[in-house]
Amino acid sequence: MKNTLNCNICPHKCNVNRVDTLGFCQAPAQLKINLAQLHFGEEPFLVGKKGSGTVFFSHCNLHCCYCQNYQISALGKGEIVSETQLIETLFSLKEQGAVNINLVSPSPYSELLIPVLMKAKSLGLDLPIVWNTNSYESVDTLRELEGLVDIYLADFRYWDDDNSLAYSGVKDYRQVASLAIKEMVRQTGSLKLDEGLAWMGTMIRILVLPNNITGTTSILEWIADNLGTSMMISLMSQYYPTYKSREYPQLNRNISHEEYSRAVADLERLGFSNYLLQELNPSADWTPDFH
Ligand code: SF4
Repeated sequence: MKNTLNCNICPHKCNVNRVDTLGFCQAPAQLKINLAQLHFGEEPFLVGKKGSGTVFFSHCNLHCCYCQNYQISALGKGEIVSETQLIETLFSLKEQGAVNINLVSPSPYSELLIPVLMKAKSLGLDLPIVWNTNSYESVDTLRELEGLVDIYLADFRYWDDDNSLAYSGVKDYRQVASLAIKEMVRQTGSLKLDEGLAWMGTMIRILVLPNNITGTTSILEWIADNLGTSMMISLMSQYYPTYKSREYPQLNRNISHEEYSRAVADLERLGFSNYLLQELNPSADWTPDFH
């Protein structure tokens, strides 16, 4: 099992002892969270009527210049918590009516979360566990999560390596993410719903960035060829310039109706049967029906 004392948890393989040296993600050796609350800003089948029990972890192993949560991810706002405190938090979310436990940007803490999830489940936490990830994940680490994570919400951020380097600080995103998503799908399959709520599977999220920075067409073609057109896709339109992205002319605007429509046309052309679209404005809500 990997650990935070010579940290190779994610593909950065910093090999640092996080007790006294910070790696690329800047995450400490202990669990650190910013916020735990019922959250309604996810796709409808993840929030139901009562909300997703969401835990936002501090720091991140990507450095996206447009991160909408940059205060948590880049600036690392949050508090250290013990295993016991986090388990209590998970049960508190359950008592508040959460329909799942949604771990946001958990990757740098994977090895610390494995015992937390094992213990919480042994104590009766019976909600689906959602791993809400940028997909810059090591396959070895993901294998250790098998059976503990029920739902993977997996971003596929970029097809082009120059773009992933320029805007998120990693030059091998496509290769890493494609292997990671294959492993997630191997573990859980495509997203499955029961009475309108997701309970198992993988959903791939594609945030459409301006000026074709995402490479949506190539990503969708890869998914169709490698995972099949029944994969659940969430096509996100909610990009707006924030954090450092205003310094990049290519990213300094919302996406256009035409850019989003082109991505929708690709979904249809390739024959995807399960996908979710978003209204085209920054405070977008999800369309009430999905395809
Ligand atoms: S989790 Fe953080 S410290 Fe560990 S390898 Fe990844 S970026 Fe480096």
